Amino acid sequence: MASRKPMVAGNWKMNGSVELITTMADTLKNASNNKIDVLIFPPFPLLSKALEADIVAGSQTVSHEDAGAFTGEVDAKLVFELGCKYTLVGHSERRSIYGESNDVVALKFEKAQENKLIPILCVGESETQREQGLTESVVAEQLNVVIDKLGVAALVNSVIAYEPVWAIGTGKTASPKQAQEVHKFIRNKIAALDMSIAENITLLYGGSVNDQNSELLFAQADIDGGLIGGASLKPDAFLSICNSAQ
Ligand code: PEP
Repeated sequence: MASRKPMVAGNWKMNGSVELITTMADTLKNASNNKIDVLIFPPFPLLSKALEADIVAGSQTVSHEDAGAFTGEVDAKLVFELGCKYTLVGHSERRSIYGESNDVVALKFEKAQENKLIPILCVGESETQREQGLTESVVAEQLNVVIDKLGVAALVNSVIAYEPVWAIGTGKTASPKQAQEVHKFIRNKIAALDMSIAENITLLYGGSVNDQNSELLFAQADIDGGLIGGASLKPDAFLSICNSAQ
């Protein structure tokens, strides 16, 4: 029997402020925290502030290297030491702007787990790939690289976020049906390897989720919550998205 707790995570990208941490912390006190996992991925300079304010916070990426001469990179070990539990890996902006390949994303996934962080692996197709009917094969390949390298058991301590690239920051949300189809595909794909992992893994939807569309998206059988960009910068909207995930 699956026992998946809903999760809503806010990805602030390179946005936010010290002031927003304070406002968000106050607002999130009203979230049904015991029924859902609520977390924020603020920019690195705000991580300590977020943790001090009792926000569950994670990093937006980590390096696939151990500590060393890598100016500007972020050590997963330090992120864990700071008090974080999660990190995003393979967000589409990291893939498209910073050239992170599926192989690099798999290395980051591995480094996160080596350092006791739970990776939230972001996968999703571009608009052209969807139009060409390649959605499932693109998502399958993004998952396969991790599974082939680390084994399906590595998914036990992980979360997968399906984020169609064409829906991120565009206001073009996937319909609940479109999102559910891909979530079901992901869960079935994992089930073919391990039924229990498939039933228990948290699958998030991301891409222009707001307080008007979250309830229907989160009501889908295989959608366990969301990864929220723009709307996670508005405390009231984010709170209402969190509460719609129960
Ligand atoms: C994201 O950055 O992961 C995201 C889903 O952004 P938005 O909600 O703004 O589309």
